[in-house]
Amino acid sequence: MDIDTYEQTLIARRAELVGDMVEIEDQLDDPPSKDWDDRSTERQVEALGNSDLAEIKRIDAALARIKAGTYGYCQKCGEQISDARLTLLPDTPFCKTCA
Ligand SMILES: [Zn+2]
Repeated sequence: MDIDTYEQTLIARRAELVGDMVEIEDQLDDPPSKDWDDRSTERQVEALGNSDLAEIKRIDAALARIKAGTYGYCQKCGEQISDARLTLLPDTPFCKTCA
């Protein structure tokens, strides 16, 4: 397992998400529209922001595990998480069995 590769992937993804969130905040700063369609679009943007925030939190937790030296081990059963799974889901805290 090459933790550096996963760390780079996580940091890059985090930067991407933070970039997205800045754009979303810019849109939310626009004066509130009286038009119904515009308001429902704003709600979609807010929902997207929340899911981005959840992903950022998972990434931060994964980066903290890299620093603590527990990255790549299941937070539930302690088994090593497979490289195939980490490549697909680098921020996952659980092995395939516990997820
Ligand atoms: Zn497990």
